[in-house]
Amino acid sequence: MVGTGLVGSTGALVLSRLKNVVIKAFERAPEPREAGAWISLSVSGLAILNRLVDPAQIRRIVYRPPDKAVYVARHWRTGQILARNYSSPGHAPDYIQARTHRFPLLQAILSNVPEGIIQYGYNVVDVVVTDDGVRLFFQDQPSQDFDLVVAADGIYSVSGCVLRPIRDTHGRAENSAEVPPSSPSRLQGRGGIPKDLPGQPGRRHSGPARRQLGVAGER
Ligand SMILES: Cc1cc2nc3c(=O)[nH]c(=O)nc-3n(C[C@H](O)[C@H](O)[C@H](O)COP(=O)(O)OP(=O)(O)OC[C@H]3O[C@@H](n4cnc5c(N)ncnc54)[C@H](O)[C@@H]3O)c2cc1C
Repeated sequence: MVGTGLVGSTGALVLSRLKNVVIKAFERAPEPREAGAWISLSVSGLAILNRLVDPAQIRRIVYRPPDKAVYVARHWRTGQILARNYSSPGHAPDYIQARTHRFPLLQAILSNVPEGIIQYGYNVVDVVVTDDGVRLFFQDQPSQDFDLVVAADGIYSVSGCVLRPIRDTHGRAENSAEVPPSSPSRLQGRGGIPKDLPGQPGRRHSGPARRQLGVAGER
């Protein structure tokens, strides 16, 4: 496993429970760290999480608004309400949509990953597919061979660039010669809003200064 953010840690936890699987996870940060803001947990996400982590541990870190755990999406500039999204009905209380902060969630997941699986301070700099499997190259550490590599190193993934192409807003592979890596069309995350933003009603985009841009219109 390359990267142990929320995805890699969850993956490491799941794979560590499989018999006859030896898993190692590499994280370039020296230790788990606070990153990002709040995160919402969907019904399906909670259904999985509650099977992996003691539900009491999850209950301690989540928040649900009193009005049926509603999410309210507002226009980033005017504050106009664009949508109210309620949790789908008929689920057990532990499965009702909720929100939390990333670090307590990460800590809850990590506290269930067996010791020794995650190795911090391992920066993967290259991934090469060999005849027998996959070789990981690290900064300042010897390379290691594996049967399988899972790319969980986030939006600017080193390993994912080898294993699958990242598409820009025009469907071009960013890690190919078609588009240089510094292309402004990569602005799909928190960094900014593409200039040719498709103006479909009800769409939301992350923008500068961590604002959300909501495209208003009929719904
Ligand atoms: C503004 C914003 C709001 C969001 N809100 C929500 C939400 O409400 N609900 C939701 O479900 N999702 C939300 N998302 C999406 C969610 O945050 C991401 O999908 C999720 O955090 C991605 O987790 P990850 O583990 O894949 O990546 P990351 O959290 O980025 O973790 C990647 C890890 O890999 C490590 N790494 C990177 N490169 C290397 C390397 N070369 N070698 C070793 N380790 C490496 C990093 O240090 C990091 O720890 C949001 C995203 C953004 C940007």
